[in-house]
Amino acid sequence: MTYIITEPCIDKKDKSCVDVCPVDCIHESGRMLVIDSEECIDCGACEPECPVEAIFPEDAVPVKWEGFVKINYAYSEGADAVEKLVEERVAAFPPEHL
Ligand code: SF4
Repeated sequence: MTYIITEPCIDKKDKSCVDVCPVDCIHESGRMLVIDSEECIDCGACEPECPVEAIFPEDAVPVKWEGFVKINYAYSEGADAVEKLVEERVAAFPPEHL
């Protein structure tokens, strides 16, 4: 399993999570951070560090933000692939906090 970063991170990117990740698997795309599912060791250290509560275990992502699972997994195809999906998501479902 992996952890997933969701909507509240868009245009926030606090990065407190980056500092605590023991395997440096949290990466920045244009508008949000994502977790590399192939590198995440599922330790949970990042979840309580997020000030906007954007991070969830994959099997506990709120239904309304399930689309962010695909966005995080897209990191395996590169940051551009992530950003494309983020822009599509924002256009279709404007984030509540923006
Ligand atoms: Fe990094 Fe652990 Fe969070 Fe995975 S669960 S992104 S390994 S801090």
